[in-house]
Amino acid sequence: MSDSLLRFLVRGASVRGEIVTLDQAWREVVARHALPAPVRDRLGELSAAAALLAATLKFDGSLVLQIHGDGPVALFVVECQSDGGYRATVKLREGATIDDDASLSALVDAQGRGRFVVTLDPRDGVAGRQAWQGIVPFEGETVAAALERYMQRSEQIPTRLWLAADGERAVGLLLQRLPDRGGQPAAADTDGWNRMQRLADTVTAREMLALPPEQLLRRLFWQESLYAFDERACRFACRCSRGKVGDMLKLLGSDEVEAILAERGDIDVHCEYCNQAYRFDAVDSIALFHDAPAAPGSQAQH
Ligand SMILES: [Zn+2]
Repeated sequence: MSDSLLRFLVRGASVRGEIVTLDQAWREVVARHALPAPVRDRLGELSAAAALLAATLKFDGSLVLQIHGDGPVALFVVECQSDGGYRATVKLREGATIDDDASLSALVDAQGRGRFVVTLDPRDGVAGRQAWQGIVPFEGETVAAALERYMQRSEQIPTRLWLAADGERAVGLLLQRLPDRGGQPAAADTDGWNRMQRLADTVTAREMLALPPEQLLRRLFWQESLYAFDERACRFACRCSRGKVGDMLKLLGSDEVEAILAERGDIDVHCEYCNQAYRFDAVDSIALFHDAPAAPGSQAQH
């Protein structure tokens, strides 16, 4: 099954794993952004990584991975919803030149000021829940290395990732060591964690992109006893709406909105994730500020 995430346990070892394959969901993102290949492929890897990390968490809302870059890429953003919805975008610096073989750190950490940001945002309307955000300096030559360092620093759970992406697919494999129970390893097979990593380290990006997920798991772990316990679907889904764009214009304030209208006649807003266009003319804009009794900045329900 494509566009899906499979979770598994390794029988007898303190290791759990996940494998995600984004096909159509990833191509929806590729089709909406004209990106140089190295930027596109890193966004695909980050997409697979976000889906994997979101599935390790028990929460109702969205996980957002961002890399704020100081190089040709100003920002990578991937957002995964707990219901399997996913969207992603990139902001390139104007006039930046990107080599075909540019590394991730050349793209986002050219001057050592890249930052890696993880946000957990509870679902809209869940009362009393606060968004949580972790920010660390960018470290690592690959998306997988950057994420592994982050997991080690913040969650202190040994986690390994193998990621690959091209214009057609984004694929990721995650292995995580299950925490010990009361100082004792959770399983008798204490070498399981090291052995699973060694086996996964033999995978190539070409295999990851070519093989269906079940076949890839068999190829890597044929001597192991894997127990698959959960498969979930992933899909491209943007959360933009005319109502949310209206809320954003209200936050700008009526003076600012009137100034833009005077200059351009209409206000055109494009969603940076899905490219959907939202146009507000003078009448729409007046209605924004006069129909709604709520003060600017309050949360409208949609
Ligand atoms: Zn959108």
